[in-house]
Parts: sequence; structure tokens; C-alpha cells
Amino acid sequence: MTSRASQRPIPVPLLSRSAHDRVAHRRTDEAWLAQAWSRPETRVLVLTARSRVLVDAQARLQLVSPAEADAAVGADAPRMLLGEADGRAYFAVFSAGPDEPEAPTGLRRADLRELGGQLNDLDVGLLTASVALQAWHRTHTHCPRCGSPTAIIKAGWTRACPVDGSEHFPRTDPAVIMLIRDAEDRCLLARGPAWPVGRMSVLAGFVEAGESAEAAVVREVAEEVGVEVVNVQYVASQPHPFPASLMLGYTGEAAGTPELAPDNDEILDAGWFTRDEVRAARDWGDEASWDGAGASAPSGASLQALPPTFSIARQLIDAWLAEAE
Ligand SMILES: [Zn+2]
Repeated sequence: MTSRASQRPIPVPLLSRSAHDRVAHRRTDEAWLAQAWSRPETRVLVLTARSRVLVDAQARLQLVSPAEADAAVGADAPRMLLGEADGRAYFAVFSAGPDEPEAPTGLRRADLRELGGQLNDLDVGLLTASVALQAWHRTHTHCPRCGSPTAIIKAGWTRACPVDGSEHFPRTDPAVIMLIRDAEDRCLLARGPAWPVGRMSVLAGFVEAGESAEAAVVREVAEEVGVEVVNVQYVASQPHPFPASLMLGYTGEAAGTPELAPDNDEILDAGWFTRDEVRAARDWGDEASWDGAGASAPSGASLQALPPTFSIARQLIDAWLAEAE
């Protein structure tokens, strides 16, 4: 195998940015929480049932006062303490109903996938935490031990069972995502069944029970395209709260240029691509906005679109591209 320059560190992944202090010690301080909610300068992020939030034309989150939040979702709605920044407390509340009132003039509603790359560090940290908490509360309403409905405690960060006293915490499911290169320093990109022909990304998969992340990288590449990987190196992580993943970014190497054998289940097309080929591909924008229009290749490993800039997949690809610049 030829020797290669080690991969440079990548910038902080876009959804890994944050500028607030989570002040976990305040989550059980009921007097502090009540006082914070009484202050009009406290900022509250109101998330709709579809996990959308109001932003202005510059993609700044439109946070409201506690009184405005009470008016929007009801004074008895659970309040999630996100943390503190610049001497202010930040909370999130969730709308219960499916209806989204029309956005005021000059504002719009959007979700984290659309906004992730545009928000500033404070806003993206607040929104990512809120979306993760909302997804967990939505689907973890009952005790996994006895089936009783649980109660929200610790300012949204724990659910407690009133029957057996067990406590339950927000789920975070580790997943690995890996840029694999061959002996010619080409990069492995692949397409799953949900994507149109031409849209490709690096491989990824969930870490299984009782498995290390490094072993998951090796296993997933072998399962999905039949390639043996060595020299697995950790790069960076990014929360992916859709609904509960933490993406652990890795690089790895294949010996020689092995033939790829897509499993035809999770992976339909896969190929080794040069930097010039990858640079020629377009951005597919947010995950929903590119539907394959213009992708004329009937099948095979056609590369026409790359993952969105907010994804750690794209950051791994961009870091590999930058090695040759
Ligand atoms: Zn229970």
C-alpha cells in the first residue's frame, strides 16, 4: 500500500457547534428555574410538533420571552432548560398540536436540516439540543421496565417512573460514518435504495450492541461493499438528532483497489472516485431538495450529487479533497 499523508483535522462539524453552558447543576434547582422563567430577558425556543422553528431572513432564531412562550404552548407545558449564555437563561418548549400558525411577515419556519449550516454557533447549539430532546420525549413516554407513564423531571433531561422509581435519560445512538480510500487515494462513495441515481455519500451504519466503533467501521464496509478495511482513524463527531444519532466520523484504507460488491440491500451502487470526479459533482443541498432531476445515468456508480454541507459526510469528503490542495 502506498503511504499517504495523514488526514488533516476537519473544522468543527456544523451541528457540533455550541456557545451555551448547559448548567446541568441548575436542572434540579426549582427556585432558580422559577426565577429564570420569571425574567423577561430569558429566551425561549418554541419548537413546533414538526420540529420547526421561526427564523428571520438572516436565519436567526426568533426566540421569545417566557410570557410569550406560555401564550404559545400553555403555561403548564414542560420547560426544557437548555442552558445559559451571556447571562441569560435559555429554555425550549414544544407545541403539542400539529397545526403551525402562519409565520409573521418577514419570518419563516424551518427545521434543523434546512438551517444547520446557516445558524450561528449559539443558535445551532440551542436548536440541536432542543430537537434531540423533543424526539426523545415524543417516543419515550413510558417506563421500559414496567410500562407505566413516566414524568418529566430535571428540567427536561430525565424521565422518572412513579411506580418503580427508575430514571431514564435521553437516548443517543452511536453510528459510524467513514471515508474509505484505496491505494490510489480514491474515495469510496455509495448510494442507498432511498436515493436517486447519482446521489452518493460515504458509508455509514449503526454501532451494534457490545461492539466498538472501530469494529463497526470494519464490519459495515465489509457487509455493504465486501471490502476489507485497515488503519481506521477517528476524525470527529457530530450529533444527528433525526431522531437520536451521534455520528462518529472515521477514515480507513483498503488494500489495493478492491472490487466493490454492493449488498443490493443497503447499498445499490458504489465506486472509487478521484478528486476531480468528486469536485465535478454538485451539492444536493438540504437532504430533500435534490430529487435526481437531471440524473440520466440508468444505473451504475454515477456520481452527480454530494451530501449537504451540514453533514459530517460532506466534511469528511471536503477534508479529503483539501489534502490535495
Ligand atoms: Zn416503571
